[in-house]
Amino acid sequence: MSSPKVPEKEKFDPVESLAELRHEFGEHGGVNMSIETSCTFTVLEADTMPKLFQGEVGPETADIYLYSRHYNPTVYVLSREIAAIEGTEAAYCTSSGMSAISAVIMQLCSPGDHVVAGDTLYGGTFALLHDFLPTKTNVETTFVNIADLEAVEAAFTDQTKLLYIESMSNPTLIVADIPRLAEIAHRHNAKLVVDNTFSPMVLSPAKLGADIVAYSLTKFVNGSADIIAGAICGDKDLIHQLINLHSGSVMLLGPTMDPRIAFEISMRLPHLGIRMAEHSRRALTYSERLEKLGISVVYPGLPSHPQYELLKKIANEGFGFGGMFCIDMGTRERAYELMELLQNKNRFGYIAVSLGYYDTLMSCSASSTSSELSPEDQGQAGISPGLVRFSTGYTGSLQQRWAQLENALRTLDVI
Ligand code: PLP
Repeated sequence: MSSPKVPEKEKFDPVESLAELRHEFGEHGGVNMSIETSCTFTVLEADTMPKLFQGEVGPETADIYLYSRHYNPTVYVLSREIAAIEGTEAAYCTSSGMSAISAVIMQLCSPGDHVVAGDTLYGGTFALLHDFLPTKTNVETTFVNIADLEAVEAAFTDQTKLLYIESMSNPTLIVADIPRLAEIAHRHNAKLVVDNTFSPMVLSPAKLGADIVAYSLTKFVNGSADIIAGAICGDKDLIHQLINLHSGSVMLLGPTMDPRIAFEISMRLPHLGIRMAEHSRRALTYSERLEKLGISVVYPGLPSHPQYELLKKIANEGFGFGGMFCIDMGTRERAYELMELLQNKNRFGYIAVSLGYYDTLMSCSASSTSSELSPEDQGQAGISPGLVRFSTGYTGSLQQRWAQLENALRTLDVI
């Protein structure tokens, strides 16, 4: 396969982009925006109502709103902030990451269409593509190793509408070569959709050629494991399709974000860049030290990682290589022993699914977040039964946390 010409990465700073957005003051001049809790909105002239229904006027043109399942002013502010962080023309926030992902796929695919997807996706997304969509909508997916660009290219058919990947795969942390994958998708007239949940700030997929960026805001973006939320980032045309009153998957399936939730998340965006840099700094330090001790560790910030050079090339400056790393303990029993010790005795972190929390979260992927995959599919995806996924927290001192981790490994005679 000829090697496609990849355009030089445009320098993009998501923190600067967010800071350039017009600040939203509260109703009484408060430094924080007000929360607009109303579901429905008045118009001064009755004639405005049909124009709202026709899409002739709306929040983009005249600061006029219809109904909060369509647009809500507070959710709209958050959407603009997320779009600024991603460098996309627009964004739309939803009630969960899964609703964002399913709304995009259902909007862009019709019965008989085909998706090419990475073979190491979040288990829920895998189940959606592997089980739900083929039976409910006759949309079929071929799963491929996205690090094998020839296999990706070969998986396309005339019916392929989407190439669906995660920027850093869950849990194996394969870094997607987004520019080249975009080039392949576009050559086949398909769109590249990237789930960037693992690497906000670190990677800006839309700036690297992706057409659509999907998020679970539940994780790093929100950062406190207290809110389920999602977002879809893309051009205005996509967002208009999603909320079309007659044919929009978001409008008609209704995964609406509550404005109170939008407010909460918006308040946490100003420190997302600082948080990501610290998640990354700690993950890198642990991984470097673990590797030196001879532990089998997966972290894309280590030169031993197969996509280290790629990530260095495509990552934004100043946010490191992400907060996720994995240790392979060989067997499930050893993985459980390590996690129990780290939680119940050494207090390094918690045995819990999810990621992006301020404390460290640990899970054994094969028997938790990737359990939707069969043992064969897990094997193909490189998810060994003893793989422990860590979402690195930033509480406590680094020195204190490292001592807890090292101590547990010594107790188990791993080092
Ligand atoms: N994408 C990734 C990479 C995830 O890890 C998850 C959840 O763990 C999701 C999407 C789904 O997000 P949510 O739980 O907000 O629906």
